[in-house]
Amino acid sequence: MPEGHTIHRLAEDYLASFGGRPAHVTSPQGKFTDAAALLDGAELTTAEAHGKHLFLGFRAADWIHIHLGLFGKVDFGDAPAPPPTDTVRLRLANNTAFVDLRGPTTCALIMDTEKQAIHDRLGPDPLRPDADPAAAYRRVSRSRTTIAALLMDQKIISGVGNVYRAEVLFRHGIDPYRAGKDLTSTEWDAIWTDLVELMREGVRNNRIDTVRPEHAPEAMGRPPRVDDHGGEVYVYRRANLPCHICGGEIRTADLAARNLFWCPTCQKP
Ligand SMILES: [Zn+2]
Repeated sequence: MPEGHTIHRLAEDYLASFGGRPAHVTSPQGKFTDAAALLDGAELTTAEAHGKHLFLGFRAADWIHIHLGLFGKVDFGDAPAPPPTDTVRLRLANNTAFVDLRGPTTCALIMDTEKQAIHDRLGPDPLRPDADPAAAYRRVSRSRTTIAALLMDQKIISGVGNVYRAEVLFRHGIDPYRAGKDLTSTEWDAIWTDLVELMREGVRNNRIDTVRPEHAPEAMGRPPRVDDHGGEVYVYRRANLPCHICGGEIRTADLAARNLFWCPTCQKP
């Protein structure tokens, strides 16, 4: 499942290739054909993300709402577009570029009111300028649920996935099993500010790096991480490896249906 920075990056990439110009809109797979016909030839006016939801805006109030889910994929390419495979749910094409969407959980044409309803049920997104971290803290601070589970709850905070939750808790020395109600507002503010910075960098670089300069491979004289997720991290998928700070063993456990990673020494209860 992609994390929020990937979806914000996709919004930027859609706009860069298709913004302000009419697009040829099709659904080779056939599941989005009627909507594609309505949008064909319209201009992509804006694109935005909220958490893991992507919204492509056409004309004044038409939106394509996309959620990639576990299997959704987006591929950009240069024109001329090759003949599409029949797995392409949505293709946009113009005379310089094309982009194919395959396998999303959601790809639907919606109006402003429906879009607003989606925003209303999502928690604040650290990558959105309109985000209100205090709204998230009000819910966190009333909850007995662990902070590691709360960070993955899209109704409370949106866009944070398994990598950012593990890394941000490590960076602040917070035990992932602490209850939300035991988190101070100062701690929450620090987590939020850090997420804003880390996730913005994620959008820029299109990958997740979370280690501070002093813990980078060059600074520590260690080999760079080898993992298909790329990026330098402290704990994510580093189970049984030595912690970059204390040298102790990174641990893993199941939490909120995903593998949690943490250092029990640096993140004391
Ligand atoms: Zn440690």
